[in-house]
Amino acid sequence: MSSLVKVDELEAVVIIDNEVDCMSWIAPDTVDVSGRFPDLCLNNAVNQKVGGQNVKVIPMEAMSCGAHGLSVLVTATKDGVKHSVLFDTGPEEEAWERNAVEMISEAKKASNSSSSAVIVDLHSDRPEFRGFMVAHPVAMPADPTFDEIRAVGGAVFKSSGPHTVLDDKFLISGNIPWSAAYETGLQNGIRISDLAKGWEKDEEMADERFLMCNLKGKGIVMFTGCSHRGVVNASRSAVEQLSSEVPLHAVLGGYHLVASSQAQVEETVKDLKTPDPKVLLPGHCSGWRVKYEIEKQMPGRLVPCTAGSKIKF
Ligand SMILES: [Zn+2]
Repeated sequence: MSSLVKVDELEAVVIIDNEVDCMSWIAPDTVDVSGRFPDLCLNNAVNQKVGGQNVKVIPMEAMSCGAHGLSVLVTATKDGVKHSVLFDTGPEEEAWERNAVEMISEAKKASNSSSSAVIVDLHSDRPEFRGFMVAHPVAMPADPTFDEIRAVGGAVFKSSGPHTVLDDKFLISGNIPWSAAYETGLQNGIRISDLAKGWEKDEEMADERFLMCNLKGKGIVMFTGCSHRGVVNASRSAVEQLSSEVPLHAVLGGYHLVASSQAQVEETVKDLKTPDPKVLLPGHCSGWRVKYEIEKQMPGRLVPCTAGSKIKF
């Protein structure tokens, strides 16, 4: 049984996502979302004289931009004490920095000890390079190495098993077990673990993990990265971390169905109905087909994860 504690409040700020949409209305009785177009008009407008009259002008740069990837700042509160986890950073710096200016100050406010090193929690088997094989290897840009993270003051914590962090408010998973027959990993996935050895096949991506919290009165809120291990597999694994009385409340992040067959998209949503999450927040690599399918099979539960959203569960 996990030592994960129940938190009183949970918020997520989506710093990076492929999609931007601050205008679509949010389905009622799901989550509260701020950072929307009306909020920007009310809170960020600047006074300007236009035609002899004082008017409010919306600063368009206050709206986040979309960028490939996912970065979510998750803040949990228990007994008045806040802790934050930055769940991934997305693959490029410029967009993250542009969108995060306000969010960084929020993270600092949430920190109990701003002078301590940032703890960077990474899987111990994290590769040097990741990519996929077509006729030849195609690589993602390299992530910072463990040494590079230490060199800029980060404290590296390596783990391959499930563990809780920050006063047991967050659980970071270990290996996500296979269970759904159609979720079998990343086809043609490759990695370099040792530069001397070169590329190796890695379709299983066993180092992929999810983050979860247990929110009082609601249940499990799970954050997926890219779901190469499968969003159904991850959802089932999240539920298994706690006693059967704790329901799955929400699933936010990449569902990795952007290039999947229509049959798999339909099967995925059908199988997600069993843990019965009340809110589904697909982002990054989910693709529009699964959003359409969720709305069809589970109407009223879809809240797309989009850059710039501040979500209160
Ligand atoms: Zn993905």
